[in-house]
Amino acid sequence: LDECPSQYQVLVLGSTGVGKSAIISQFTTSEFLGASDVHTDSEENKTSVSVILNQEESVLELFEENNVSTLNDNSDFQADAYMLVYSCADRSSFRSACATLRRLKEEAGGSKTVMIVANKVDLVRKRLVTSDDGKNFANSYNCKYIETSAALNHNIDELLAGVLSQIRLKQYGP
Ligand code: GDP
Repeated sequence: LDECPSQYQVLVLGSTGVGKSAIISQFTTSEFLGASDVHTDSEENKTSVSVILNQEESVLELFEENNVSTLNDNSDFQADAYMLVYSCADRSSFRSACATLRRLKEEAGGSKTVMIVANKVDLVRKRLVTSDDGKNFANSYNCKYIETSAALNHNIDELLAGVLSQIRLKQYGP
C-alpha cells in the first residue's frame, strides 16, 4: 500500500552561529531516513527529510530562522514543532533562546511543542552554559531538552526522532 506520508513543519530557531545549518545538514544523513528524497529549497530556506520511525514514514519540513524578532512577521505560520537551538559556548545565544521560548509559550497559551537543543557540547573547555542551566530552563516550560554536537554527529538522530515522536504524541495521544 502506497500511503502518502504525513508532512510536518518544524521551525529551527536560534541565534546566528549556534549550528542550525550544521544540524539540519546532519539530519540529511540520518539512519532514520526514509525512501523519499531529501531535498533543499534554498529559496524558501526549507529542507525536507523523510523519516521512518516505528515503521511509519513522515516528512519533516525544516525551516531555519535566525532572528527571533522575525517570528511575528509570519504569524500565520504555525509550525508543528520548534527546535530552539543555542550554543553551550555562547551565553548570549542562551539568553536569546530564553527570551524566544517565553514568547513562543505566551503566544499559544503554552501548547506549542518546543525542543530545547544545547548544541556544541564537544567544546568542553569553552563551555559557558551548563547542563543544569539548560535542563532547568527547559523544565520550567515543560519542554524536552537535548544536548547535541553537530560537529561530532552526537545525538542528532535522537533529536530528529525525538521531535517527530513529540509531534505524533500530540496528534495521536500516548
Ligand atoms: P547557524 O548560523 O545557526 O546556521 O550556524 P552554522 O550551522 O552555520 O554553524 C556556525 C559555525 O559553528 C560553523 O563554523 C560550524 O562549523 C560550527 N558548528 C556548528 N555546530 C557545531 C558543533 O556542534 N560543534 C562545534 N565545535 N562547532 C559547530
